Amino acid sequence: MNSSQFTAEPSSNDTAERDVTGLPSPASGADRAPLKFDVIIAGCGPTGAMLAAELRLHDVRVLVLEKETEPVSFVRIVGLHIRSLELMAMRGLLDRIREHGRQRPAGGFFAAINKPAPQGLDSAHAYLLGIPQPVIERLLEEHATQLGAQVRRGCTVADFAQDDEGVTVELADGDQLRTRYLVGCDGGRSTVRKLLGVGFPGEPSRTETLMGEMEVGVPQEEIAAKVAEIQETEKRFWLKPVGKGAYSVVVPAAGVGDRAEPPTLEDFKQQLRAIAGTDFGVHSPRWLSRFGDATRLAERYRVGRVLLAGDAAHIHPPTGGQGLNLGVQDAFNLGWKLAAQVRGWAPETLLDTYHAERHPVAEDVLDNTRAQMELHSTEPGPQAVRRLLTELMDFDEVNRYLIEKITAIGIRYDFGEGPDLLGRRLRDIDVKQGRLYGLLHRGRGLLLDRTERLSVGGWSDRVDHLADPTAALDVPCVLLRPDGHVAWIGDDQQDLDDHLSRWFGRPAD
Ligand SMILES: Cc1cc2nc3c(=O)[nH]c(=O)nc-3n(C[C@H](O)[C@H](O)[C@H](O)COP(=O)(O)OP(=O)(O)OC[C@H]3O[C@@H](n4cnc5c(N)ncnc54)[C@H](O)[C@@H]3O)c2cc1C
Repeated sequence: MNSSQFTAEPSSNDTAERDVTGLPSPASGADRAPLKFDVIIAGCGPTGAMLAAELRLHDVRVLVLEKETEPVSFVRIVGLHIRSLELMAMRGLLDRIREHGRQRPAGGFFAAINKPAPQGLDSAHAYLLGIPQPVIERLLEEHATQLGAQVRRGCTVADFAQDDEGVTVELADGDQLRTRYLVGCDGGRSTVRKLLGVGFPGEPSRTETLMGEMEVGVPQEEIAAKVAEIQETEKRFWLKPVGKGAYSVVVPAAGVGDRAEPPTLEDFKQQLRAIAGTDFGVHSPRWLSRFGDATRLAERYRVGRVLLAGDAAHIHPPTGGQGLNLGVQDAFNLGWKLAAQVRGWAPETLLDTYHAERHPVAEDVLDNTRAQMELHSTEPGPQAVRRLLTELMDFDEVNRYLIEKITAIGIRYDFGEGPDLLGRRLRDIDVKQGRLYGLLHRGRGLLLDRTERLSVGGWSDRVDHLADPTAALDVPCVLLRPDGHVAWIGDDQQDLDDHLSRWFGRPAD
């Protein structure tokens, strides 16, 4: 923790007396503690770290509370899909992240059906970046702290109470902190969600899988042939080298003891023998873990001043590698809206658009993971459906549809009637200064104006204006939200002003 980086650390001019909304200071005269923070985030996983960074772009006083004293080194094999790579490019992080990952083709992720991506995907970043989760977490946390977020480790959120003016957050050690808003980014077993009493309907875990890293006692060639043979029918199995003499092992966990207890090396050996007839002489584990296929979605993403994001709001099996991507994208959607609320310029309904836009996206991800899990089944019926889908994916449109779904570039938010581009994200097109996403690093709105006669007027403190007749667009002008989604298309100033009000509130005087 480096509190000197934290511009929001309470100081003489940075406590509740400096009310960023311009409203009367809630603490003054009241018996509550001062609102030292605008937003407290519970959990410094990828979602919490991304959200903290997004809020700091707007000078919001952010504190992230993380129960673990050290970053977790548990390596989930994570890939950043196209839309997440685009978000990283939009905040100037992509080059840094790419240094630590391996670019792979974007195709082959839907139910691990091995089909190449179709030609001409609508993105300048059309690949998958394989990168271990601890590395992504470290880079996002660094990004957030560099922007001035404070991260306090070893702090567990245990309770909270909200009132009209803020939220009192209680830590496990009894300390209390006051904040305007609290966001639960505290993972699938979210304390914040449970305390809120928000329903989390869905299905419990039915299929458990063991995952770990360890060394093996037989030559690589022997392993490769056996693994290929088993994978013909068993899609939830792999054993592959991950460097430095270690192998990543994934094996179904049927019949393995107490789910609350961490698995042992003996559990892995047993399961390997059952599925492969040999335990490959595995030894010297680096870490051992298990995961299930529970699938659940929070009924509400917001209750008053408390919100949920990432795994705290949705859980599903890791097929297709979407969970982290979904959480980071939640954070990107929520960040500028919550910042607008704190800064006092948010239109009345803006914060509620977070649930309206992101809940259906998660619903869709849950459904596609349910479908993928069926396709992983070794039963004859699902195997037949898998063969049929594999054939169907030879049709370009089917393959494209599925890949746009998994990579989240197919998302279209419902902004009302309008051309197909309305509500979609805009790809990283060429503009006269270089690339479009290079203009979005500060997390502001952008009017991309090919007519060169429009203006953002009184919204210029929140929205940039690029007059560029050469921009590679086939419409006259677009208004982009800070998350890169198209909020308006047209060429009429009055219509533009109406949409600026809709998304960015009242113009400055
Ligand atoms: C085997 C496996 C493979 C996966 N592969 C992929 C993949 O390829 N691609 C992908 O996108 N996703 C993948 N995922 C999913 C991904 O790991 C999760 O979706 C992602 O970690 C969610 O991020 P999060 O920040 O929302 O939650 P988490 O990563 O769970 O972070 C929550 C944080 O909150 C902290 N916390 C919890 N309670 C409290 C509290 N009360 N107070 C303070 N702090 C608290 C925790 O310590 C943790 O640091 C995989 C998951 C598994 C299990």
